[in-house]
Amino acid sequence: MNHINMPEDTERGWLPALLRGWAGRCPSCGARTLFTAYLKMAPTCSSCEISLESYRADDAPAYFVIFIVGHIIVPLVLLSEKLYQPALWVHGILWIPLCIGLSLWLLPHVKGAVIGVLWALQVRARPPL
Ligand SMILES: [Zn+2]
Repeated sequence: MNHINMPEDTERGWLPALLRGWAGRCPSCGARTLFTAYLKMAPTCSSCEISLESYRADDAPAYFVIFIVGHIIVPLVLLSEKLYQPALWVHGILWIPLCIGLSLWLLPHVKGAVIGVLWALQVRARPPL
């Protein structure tokens, strides 16, 4: 096991784990092994060989992304409407691609961060019966 700059298993720091997960890195060793595809988790870390498949983020990343994107976009929409009163089509071509792009960019980062915190807090899914 390779635990670089990480406390013992009983003292997992949630903030370093969150930051490593945000960067797509293993929350335990920091190797870039968390995802095998855009949002597909690796079952185990190929560097330190911890099992990652028991940490399931489920829908939490999507909820957090909606929360974050909404709190960024809605004030910008209201501010632009207050200051410039642009036509409706201008709002459409401005905010819809920004919502989609920001959501797609944030989703793997937030999923990694959620997995990191789950790992730090040792919140595992129940094994199948
Ligand atoms: Zn690892």
